[in-house]
Amino acid sequence: MSAIWNLAHPWLHGLVAYEPGKPIEDVARELGLAPGDIIKLASNENPLGPSPKALEAMRATLERSHFYPDGGGYYLREAIANKCGLARENVILGCGSNEVIEFIGQAFLKPGDEIVTAKHAFVVYKLMATLFGAKTVEVEDPGFKHDLEAMADAIGPKTREVFVANPNNPTGTMVSQEEIDRFMARVPEHVVVVFDEAYFEFLEKAPDTLKYVREGRNVVVLRTFSKIQGLANLRIGYGLANPELISVLQKTRQPFNANGIAQAGALAGILDEEHQLRTRLVTDEGRAYLQESFAALGLEFVPSYANFVLVKVGDGKDVFAKLLQQGIIIRDMTAYALPEWIRVSVGTMEQNRRFVSALGALLGKA
Ligand SMILES: *Cc1c(COP(=O)(O)O)cnc(C)c1O
Repeated sequence: MSAIWNLAHPWLHGLVAYEPGKPIEDVARELGLAPGDIIKLASNENPLGPSPKALEAMRATLERSHFYPDGGGYYLREAIANKCGLARENVILGCGSNEVIEFIGQAFLKPGDEIVTAKHAFVVYKLMATLFGAKTVEVEDPGFKHDLEAMADAIGPKTREVFVANPNNPTGTMVSQEEIDRFMARVPEHVVVVFDEAYFEFLEKAPDTLKYVREGRNVVVLRTFSKIQGLANLRIGYGLANPELISVLQKTRQPFNANGIAQAGALAGILDEEHQLRTRLVTDEGRAYLQESFAALGLEFVPSYANFVLVKVGDGKDVFAKLLQQGIIIRDMTAYALPEWIRVSVGTMEQNRRFVSALGALLGKA
């Protein structure tokens, strides 16, 4: 190891970089396939693309690329607040909601602290905790579902943050209002609870976590424009919390973290209810089809509340590699210590059918 590592924080040595879904461009280049023949069902993106209204707003904003954006994000925060029944002071914008996870770490974590997550929770929480020298306490999640009683039990004097991804990625499972309420009754004052609701808009009936924001509890609710809004490329998401907590997080934020094109797209997108509804319908139909197909193929899967499904295929890495050869990108779950499973995002029905028939043939079950 070179000397520069001795100068770096010791906890960075063990930090494993996040492995994202393989980009279409990479697969095209490496396998000599035409990009148009490749389908990506690997990052829970919106197969319909962005709202046409968002596209129009972004095109108009391109002309103003020489100006710095509104660092305060006035109009977008106002629109988000309106939608959530909160005030602008309850909202912070991030370069993706992932950046808000980093703000929360910046604000509250130091070496030796602890965070609590579920064993198969979204991996970014642990990455961020490691970045700040904090330890991640991973709590067993029977049936791939967060066990909030056990997570409350795991809170100790060193715990600063607890993450509840609802629905969780990569499992697609959800905890109920009752479970959340019982959990919140047990969380002590020295802990910040983060409800990561990246898939909130896909839910038919979502638990109310904003009531804890209104009550002034130490709660941050995370949401994003990357999923139902189809704006993952723009990197824009947000956190909702009481004004005091938001003012703490604002201290950790770089002045122009949310770019103006993203703000304009998000602002137009959030008002486009029709595009969100259409996305939900496509997702509901596609998820039902995928789950029925897995059942017909005799594959174990985790019933999902989000726009992806976790399914057990045997050798996940092998299935990933073989599907890739055919221009189908999914996600193997090695990073989540689930080598027998893959996660597939819901695509258009045409994409879903192509994936299912390739998978069936591959497993000799066509
Ligand atoms: C996709 C996802 C996010 C969103 O990340 P962005 O940075 O907003 O793109 C956050 N949390 C979970 C659990 C996710 O699956």
